[in-house]
Amino acid sequence: MSVKTYSLKKDANIYLSKNFKINEFACLDGSDTVLIADTLVVLLQGIRDHFAASVTINSGYRTAARNAAVGGSKTSQHLLGTAADITVKGVPHIEVAQYAEHLLGKSGGIGLYNTFVHVDVRAARSRWDQRSGKQVVVGGWPGYEAAQVVIDPAPAPAVPVRVLCRCGDLLAAMEGIRLNGAIYAPVRQLGEALGYSVEWKEEEQKVIVK
Ligand SMILES: [Zn+2]
Repeated sequence: MSVKTYSLKKDANIYLSKNFKINEFACLDGSDTVLIADTLVVLLQGIRDHFAASVTINSGYRTAARNAAVGGSKTSQHLLGTAADITVKGVPHIEVAQYAEHLLGKSGGIGLYNTFVHVDVRAARSRWDQRSGKQVVVGGWPGYEAAQVVIDPAPAPAVPVRVLCRCGDLLAAMEGIRLNGAIYAPVRQLGEALGYSVEWKEEEQKVIVK
């Protein structure tokens, strides 16, 4: 991760990614210097892309004076340019936290507040819930993976397969499956019914019919 220093006057409208430009990260006291970690931009763009909804940065970089004025912690990640307090249009904050959890995994910070989600890209992992007004350390914000819809492929419909000799006698009956418009029968049962020996070579992933 590298943190870059920008000038609000000179760089305000420069885009750092598809949807985020420098003035969105600027300190709300109007200071010219803006610190922004490149991985923070990647994280925010990932959230923006996933929800396909606009992300508003309520607070990005903060100068020490501004941080003190808003009652931020002295070790706030906002001082380093590594944090953003965000809202995602039309998306519950908890879902934003859960998706950030999915993206950050074993690193970074995610704090859930009543009106926004704090995300940061620090190296060590930190998770908290501030919705009660008090900071409660939590294990994480699971839920995104669980919420994924698992599409269980419908089992291929079984089809009875009967092997008859020319005379019409039934040599074998087995269950095949219908898949993509074709009917498949198990090669061993079919082969043996026809008098062949069927050998499966596991290492070569090969069937030998003799
Ligand atoms: Zn924050």
